[in-house]
Amino acid sequence: MPSHNKQTMARNRFFIDHISEETALTGDEFRHAKNVLRLREGSEIFLLDGSGAEYSAIVTGVERERMLVHVLGKTESDREPRTEVCLLVGALKGDKTELVVQKAAELGVSHIGVFSSRYCAAYMNENKLERLSRVSREAAKQCMRSVAPDISYFETFEDALKSVNGYQNKLFACEFLAKSEGSLRGLSGTSALVVGSEGGFSEEEFALAKSLGFTGVSLGKRILRAETAAIALLSVVMYELGELQ
Ligand code: SAH
Repeated sequence: MPSHNKQTMARNRFFIDHISEETALTGDEFRHAKNVLRLREGSEIFLLDGSGAEYSAIVTGVERERMLVHVLGKTESDREPRTEVCLLVGALKGDKTELVVQKAAELGVSHIGVFSSRYCAAYMNENKLERLSRVSREAAKQCMRSVAPDISYFETFEDALKSVNGYQNKLFACEFLAKSEGSLRGLSGTSALVVGSEGGFSEEEFALAKSLGFTGVSLGKRILRAETAAIALLSVVMYELGELQ
């Protein structure tokens, strides 16, 4: 069936908060469906409510402000990661944080925390945070996930570190560490990763993380840009967790 080819399935995915048998696309999702994808009555789509479920549905009508949708069936996605991974990253300049959010969503993180730290030069506000959530949702749709990683902002570095208290592995990418304090080989269990902003970390910040149970990780002898470090560390962790095979 042509409407089930890969591209259509990736494009016709919409996040919606509460799903009932008769529902409607509104706001951004409505405009995208109507003006960009030009969906019409009879178009087949998939609805996602962020729970991990996917609902097949059909457009039953297009109004001025909303698209009416009838839900046909529900399936559980098998594309969600089996292990919970949280990425904590310093706020980056320009659109670099967006890049990290997009790649992290594709690689399978469950949560993303953006923090401010001592040498952090970028700032966050409501608009930027909303923009990051949008990037997360778009990336999730594009890679066929049914859950978009949630984005939080932490004003203090300590709050960010404490937000991942219950995680089994807590890894801190430290650019001034000559050697990793532990191996990532065979890693298993929930994992939290911390990567600094362009300005990097202070000795005190590393000491604080150590006191909270983090393990220092070196990514080699070269200093990577923050976005490279985040994507590289996340890729290695996801590989070891069996998510990239
Ligand atoms: N301004 C710093 C570099 C910061 S790099 C300096 O000049 O030293 C940004 C972040 O990427 C770092 O805080 C760290 O979390 C991560 N990173 C970059 N290179 C790394 C490496 N070789 N090992 C571990 N972490 C690294």
